[in-house]
Amino acid sequence: MKLLHFFYDLLDTAFPQKCVGCKQVLHKKENILCLKCYSEVPYIDKKGNNALNIEWADKLEVNGFWACMYFNKGGLVQMLIHALKYRGEEKVGQFIGKRLSKLISNQEHQIDIVTSVPLHSQRLKKRGFNQADLFAQTLASELNISFHPILKRVKNTKTQTQMSRLERAENVQDAFALISQNKFEGKHVLVVDDVLTTGATMQSCVKLLDKNGMKVSVAVMAMAR
Ligand SMILES: [Zn+2]
Repeated sequence: MKLLHFFYDLLDTAFPQKCVGCKQVLHKKENILCLKCYSEVPYIDKKGNNALNIEWADKLEVNGFWACMYFNKGGLVQMLIHALKYRGEEKVGQFIGKRLSKLISNQEHQIDIVTSVPLHSQRLKKRGFNQADLFAQTLASELNISFHPILKRVKNTKTQTQMSRLERAENVQDAFALISQNKFEGKHVLVVDDVLTTGATMQSCVKLLDKNGMKVSVAVMAMAR
């Protein structure tokens, strides 16, 4: 055992872990973020039933809506999500997943299935994995609910960052389809994504599931202010 500890110490010295936020070398007891960055994470609320969540549940016409953090371009949350998205850092997903699952567990929800917003196969090939998928699986295990892929992307939509709200809505219209018809009819499905901006993509997913007889709730890591 001692030898193993020695080995890990050696690894730490050779490849010290750095803070995802400020890139400073982390202390032994710190994980992902240094204490300073950790204290600066812009969490939305400790409770799941805040005004913002209720407003978005109305907007998307879903049963429940939960978001964990505020997203600012170039900010700490973007760095966290980037670490998950492009470096596949699982610890980041676990860190956010724990927090988000607490918000959801605070309320009675009776969710049957967790699923994610899929990437188009071409983009998936390019990136190698879908971060929303990974995160949804982490969240599902935190909630003790099973994860099932339900949706597939049938239209390779353009990147939406430069689009207006209306353009985004048109861009994602009919972009999704069910993987297998009506397998989950009557179930309460929690759809998970990383960042919510205008909500156009999510709305497109919600409408499809709703049309196919599913009860829908939504959870995202972060949302634009
Ligand atoms: Zn830091």
